[in-house]
Amino acid sequence: VSDVATRLQAEEQETLRRIESLTAEYDGIVRAAQGTANDDEHDPEGATIAFEREQLAALLDQARRHLAEITAAAERLSAGSYGVCTTCGATIADARLEARPTARTCINCA
Ligand SMILES: [Zn+2]
Repeated sequence: VSDVATRLQAEEQETLRRIESLTAEYDGIVRAAQGTANDDEHDPEGATIAFEREQLAALLDQARRHLAEITAAAERLSAGSYGVCTTCGATIADARLEARPTARTCINCA
């Protein structure tokens, strides 16, 4: 897992870009909703907007959580504790880290 720092950096950039575009999309929907001052419950379009806004909020939340995981993994990497299960202290298998570079637990503790 020698290139893990590079992988984490690439994933961080990708996640930041995703957050940026989701935020822009979210802001656009909020602005559009403000333009139509209708009651969400009785306006079918308003309900759709509310649904889209919820979906985007969930995606944003997910992306932000992922970013936090990447940051935590990078911190473990510089602290020298990367690849060690935070629950049982066992070494996390390379294949698992390959598939999920932000993994903080071994397969048994996951
Ligand atoms: Zn473990």
